[in-house]
Amino acid sequence: MSPSIQSKLPAAGTTIFTVMSSLAVEHKAINLGQGFPDFPMNDQLTELVSRSMKDGNNQYVHMCGLPALRESIAAKCNRLYNAGINPDSDITITPGGTYALYTAFTAILQPGDEVILFEPAYDSYIPNITINGGVPVPISLNATDYSINWDEVKAKINSKTRAIIINSPHNPTGAVLSQHDIEQLKSVVACTNIIIISDEVYEHLIFDDKPHLSMLKYPELRERSFVCFSFGKTYHCTGWKMGYCIAPEAMMREFRKVHQFNCFTCNSPVQYALAEFLKDEEHYLQLGKQIQQKRDYFAEQMKQTRFTPIPSFGSYFQLYSYKNYSGEPEFDFAVRLTKEAGVATIPVSSFYMKPENNQVIRFCFAKKESTLEEAINRLVKFG
Ligand code: PMP
Ligand code: GLN
Repeated sequence: MSPSIQSKLPAAGTTIFTVMSSLAVEHKAINLGQGFPDFPMNDQLTELVSRSMKDGNNQYVHMCGLPALRESIAAKCNRLYNAGINPDSDITITPGGTYALYTAFTAILQPGDEVILFEPAYDSYIPNITINGGVPVPISLNATDYSINWDEVKAKINSKTRAIIINSPHNPTGAVLSQHDIEQLKSVVACTNIIIISDEVYEHLIFDDKPHLSMLKYPELRERSFVCFSFGKTYHCTGWKMGYCIAPEAMMREFRKVHQFNCFTCNSPVQYALAEFLKDEEHYLQLGKQIQQKRDYFAEQMKQTRFTPIPSFGSYFQLYSYKNYSGEPEFDFAVRLTKEAGVATIPVSSFYMKPENNQVIRFCFAKKESTLEEAINRLVKFG
């Protein structure tokens, strides 16, 4: 008999992304649930990786990431955000954005430390906090536009508040931070010891000419932020699991203490390729427009159904209310839609610590037009 384990995450089941993707496979449904593109990534980048492997770049690179890649990232962020980033001390390459977030939590949290987060929230945040002995303090985003209620943030801050998680563009709602939010954030953290963990994996997936308000742009925020990014989202290669974290030197030193004993260093041929590919800014600057076309195509076609859209300004996602179809709980409806309509989505209730049921599901529109078209045909037939 195997020994028993006292669970470190007793409340956790299997992540909703795995649950819904498995159900999609089982029922041969079109998967508009988990966020991944089904269109091909850039050939030039796959060529660069393949050349890099053939050239023999197959051994460990520097623990903090290939220096040339860190230099390309620093040049990009200094150009976009005027951030004064030092590639030697302020950047660490990670196996994905989720790992970067986890490492930041592990580096900073002591038992009992409180972390403020906004719900609905990406599903890794709360387990990342609790496994590190922290206490999640969820605040619901405003009902109509998913904006932040800053009065509630002020009310929840106390001497135990160690960090605030910011995520813009936001998963799952597609909301983005405004200049007003930045001013509020500056004011609530001023003269405190609060750290900001900023999840900016959708930095370039932003629509309607809105600017991405990165923590890196504002010295008062940058000096207290771990900012986490993912190449998976920027270059349509979510399966590569490559990302990075940027933080001021002293904070990054603690991050690296954790990283060095966990993953130590990441995939080397991919880092050589990315160092080169990142130099051409067109690849990421056109991304917002490219994905916005998909959002708009999807939204237009969805008018044939009775789902009601909630505006999305960024990310791969758009929320829709299904109140015109049913009052059943979100998870039940999403399962039924997968089985009966053949379209998988994500119930937004999975992004809450105490599941709420607002009859809202999340669709991923980062798909080929033919995929979106077939999904909508199925939804129209659904009723
Ligand atoms: N944060 C958010 C909000 C995400 O949607 C994702 C997507 N998976 C990540 C972080 C992590 O990305 P990665 O796959 O690079 O770990
Ligand atoms: N970020 C993606 C999403 O929100 C998927 C991440 C995952 O599968 N863990 O759908």
